[in-house]
Amino acid sequence: MARSKWKQHQYALLRRRRSLLAPMFVDEVVAPTTGPDYEAWISPADRRRLAAVYEALDRMDTGNYGLCTSCGTAIDRTRLESIPWVNHCQGCEDRRGYAEVELDAA
Ligand SMILES: [Zn+2]
Repeated sequence: MARSKWKQHQYALLRRRRSLLAPMFVDEVVAPTTGPDYEAWISPADRRRLAAVYEALDRMDTGNYGLCTSCGTAIDRTRLESIPWVNHCQGCEDRRGYAEVELDAA
């Protein structure tokens, strides 16, 4: 993946992370990110979305970004562009129904 494209995806991931975390910042008081209180700040669905974003950022660190976490194939470029935190190729998603997090690209 070209460096500029990689940066673009990284930026999209960081933007997504910020918007998911936004409800946790009230008057510069930062909510706990673990423990029981954390659950009150973020819905289960948003927690899954956030986890997907963190996992994608981790894959950027380890050099596995853009590869399917199931079969290791390079994820289609168009697919990755529309959903930068996607972690499965279309084939694996179709076979195993991984769409939960990925459908919510907005
Ligand atoms: Zn796959």
